[in-house]
Amino acid sequence: MASGGGGYRHSSSGAPTRLSTKIDRQNSGAYATPKASAKSRIPASPSTGSGFRRSSSGPLPAQPRASSDAGVPGRVRVAVRLRPRNSEELVADADFGDCVELQPELKRLKLRKNNWESETYEFDEVLTEFASQKRVYEVVAKPVVESVMEGYNGTVMAYGQTGTGKTFTLGRLGDEDTAARGIMVRAMEDILADVSLETDTVSVSYMQLYMETIQDLLDPANDNIAIVEDPKTGDVSLPAATLVDIRDQKSFVELLRVGEQHRFAANTKLNTESSRSHAILMVHVRKTVKGRQDMDMSYRGENGHHTSSHSLRPPVIRKSKLVVVDLAGSERIDKSGSEGHTLEEAKSINLSLSALGKCINALAENSPHVPVRDSKLTRLLRDSFGGTARTSLVVTIGPSPRHRGETASTIMFGQRAMKVENMVKLKEEFDYKSLCRRLDIELDKLIAENERQRKYFEDEVERLRVEAQKRIAEAEKSCKIALENEKTTLQQDYRDSIKKLEEKWKVNQQAIEKSRAEQESRKATKSDELLEVRNMLENEKNLRQSSQDEIIDLRNQVQHWKKLEESRGAEIVKLRKLLDTEASQKEKLEEEIAVLKSQLLQLSLEAEETRRSLDRGASGKIFPGLDSLMSQANRNSQLRDQTNGPKPPIAKLFEQVGLQKILSLLESEDADVRVHAVKVVANLAAEEANQEKIVEAGGLTSLLTLLRSSEDETIRRVAAGAIANLAMNETNQEMIMAQGGVSLLSMTASDAEDPQTLRMVAGAIANLCGNDKLQARLRGEGGIKALLGMVKCGHPDVLAQVARGIANFAKCESRAATQGNTMGRSLLIEDGSLPWIVKNANNEAAPIRRHIELALCHLAQHEVNAKEIINEGALWELVRISRDCSREDIRMLAYRTLTSSPTLQAEMRRLRIEC
Ligand code: ADP
Ligand code: MG
Repeated sequence: MASGGGGYRHSSSGAPTRLSTKIDRQNSGAYATPKASAKSRIPASPSTGSGFRRSSSGPLPAQPRASSDAGVPGRVRVAVRLRPRNSEELVADADFGDCVELQPELKRLKLRKNNWESETYEFDEVLTEFASQKRVYEVVAKPVVESVMEGYNGTVMAYGQTGTGKTFTLGRLGDEDTAARGIMVRAMEDILADVSLETDTVSVSYMQLYMETIQDLLDPANDNIAIVEDPKTGDVSLPAATLVDIRDQKSFVELLRVGEQHRFAANTKLNTESSRSHAILMVHVRKTVKGRQDMDMSYRGENGHHTSSHSLRPPVIRKSKLVVVDLAGSERIDKSGSEGHTLEEAKSINLSLSALGKCINALAENSPHVPVRDSKLTRLLRDSFGGTARTSLVVTIGPSPRHRGETASTIMFGQRAMKVENMVKLKEEFDYKSLCRRLDIELDKLIAENERQRKYFEDEVERLRVEAQKRIAEAEKSCKIALENEKTTLQQDYRDSIKKLEEKWKVNQQAIEKSRAEQESRKATKSDELLEVRNMLENEKNLRQSSQDEIIDLRNQVQHWKKLEESRGAEIVKLRKLLDTEASQKEKLEEEIAVLKSQLLQLSLEAEETRRSLDRGASGKIFPGLDSLMSQANRNSQLRDQTNGPKPPIAKLFEQVGLQKILSLLESEDADVRVHAVKVVANLAAEEANQEKIVEAGGLTSLLTLLRSSEDETIRRVAAGAIANLAMNETNQEMIMAQGGVSLLSMTASDAEDPQTLRMVAGAIANLCGNDKLQARLRGEGGIKALLGMVKCGHPDVLAQVARGIANFAKCESRAATQGNTMGRSLLIEDGSLPWIVKNANNEAAPIRRHIELALCHLAQHEVNAKEIINEGALWELVRISRDCSREDIRMLAYRTLTSSPTLQAEMRRLRIEC
């Protein structure tokens, strides 16, 4: 194994300072501890010149997790320790110098080849013969121990020739001298100082491997422990090995002592030397990571409080392992079997160590195949070399030149081991078991609590039930008592009332008895009374019969009287008829009388003439004698009857008497004369032929004067009638106007009581209304207002005249409009005639209706009136006229009027009326 490495060139020059190996200084100054590297975030970056393993130069991830990645590079650290000369060597080698020379400050070792040649090697640490055990622990093992406490696997291993101090370095217990304590004891001290015995455990197994057999040093009978490999992870374990929990340093030291004794005993029994066996101490540290039991996934307890102790997240635990290996002596066994071994035995003894050498060579050379499975030692140390553990190797050498070859071989082993690079990984996992346990405990607690509550609930229910029953019983009892009392009271009441009733009954009975006796006595007197009453009844009956007869008699009489009355009614009717005929005869006679009077008048006039002619103004009498007048009249009437001429009596009178004379009579003192005179004039005026003459003779003026001055309504009526007749002529109309006729007529109308007077006045004004030239003036003098004022009398004759006047006026206006005269709104409308027009447009009297229909048509022809026509509702009447008027000419006029007016058309469209 010593010459296995091909990549190391030894300096063969004599210059003591020349280095034969390529020295990597990068890490020379720091035997970097995993802790240090983790804390500083600077990875130990070993660099091997050959580059078998790539070193990472990047920062370490914080707290690498078992499952997170492949780990962090961590090179195997190698220190060399030189044992001081022992007593034998002091004597034997007194004349020789040491075969090695150490330069600890340069971490270099010089191996003398001969007196003039030496080879220089560099290690991670160079420990001289003066190095204290404490210092050796600190530089070799402490970083690994710290690393183990942080959750990484760690290996500390001693390699070297027998007697060079491997056991001294690792296994000294230091009983006699505390300073002499070796790595195992010191490591355990540090571990125990770091763990918490409440949450963490430290357990130890201790074995030796000899001739490929693993013996339990804590239980020597257990002498063939199998190595079990996890097929998934490849982790190896020794389940059969005794595992002792360590809780204090003393028991651990004791355990080491026992182990050492067993090792010695076993080797004696096997007839071997302990230097031929490998001692393996395994320390299992199981640490709960503090502050990693996360609080977030806690649940709420039944009381709703947050219970952080009930975390459902399993705690994080770190299960790391420190392996301390005190290897068998590295010197070669004499194959000759000089030590009493057969060749096979010798092979077997050396197998593990040589396999270790081969594996390290393979790893150092980055060989694709590492023969791990060749020996049990290499299987056990699989994680220590090329695995995930942090590994520190101390190679021990002696100073004696006699063992120079072994020393060189040891140095070369160390050099090669320095090239092995592990991938350090955190051994951290979730502690589901502990979580499960904790949850079990919680569950049990809850079950117990639930049971307690349930019990309490049941007890409570029971208590309430008992209480309720008790109360019910009490209530029932009190109820019963109350009912009993009530019953007694009622019974007492009942008895009392029965008693009272009995008493009452008795009293009543007595009273009845008494009254019965009284009745008996009364009965006798009663029969007499009855007889009397019967007689009275008989009388009454008779009386009634006689009165009924009387009624019948009276009815018959009434019947008779009714018949009599009927016959008398008929008689009255007859008499009335007779009276009517008498009246009409009287009227005729009166007319006759009037004629006679006129004739008389005429005769008197003639007589006066005759007298004048006879007397030549001597006589003062105006009228001749009545007899002569009467005879004249008779003569005239006879003449008239005889001649049977066409001329009426009035016309004759006119001819006979002379107009002037008649007119002069209008101013007569005698009222009767005035009446007759005016009647005569009126009759004359009815004849168109006379009108001009009458006017010429001043008749019109006289008539107007009469209107103005006469108190007699008959005179005014007749005068108005005469004026009305005269007013048919256009010239006369102007004259009437000129003489204030309209005002006079209006005045007459306002004073009149007789409808016939009003008819005359209205007729006169109506005639004036037909004059185109007089329109404005007529209206100005109140003509229209006067007309409209007369309608209130309601007489159809009057209304007909008013309607005619309005129609005349409207016709003149429309004529003026068609002649192109610009006109304002109709004066009729201005004077407020429209409502009356609308009201009477459909008057049942035909004359009224026709005039109004015409008036409406004329008004509507003028566009300026259209708006008012619409407003007053006259449009509807126009439409009606256009549709229903029985006179075709008026109907057509209305239709034309409606269709020619844009305003009316628009309104009809708006109202959706069709003509
Ligand atoms: P190994 O285990 O390698 O065979 P040991 O540890 O048994 O060697 O050491 C052999 C002898 O050398 C022991 O008596 C031991 O006390 C002594 N010895 C070893 N190393 C030292 C040292 N560094 N200082 C003093 N004595 C030592
Ligand atoms: Mg030893």
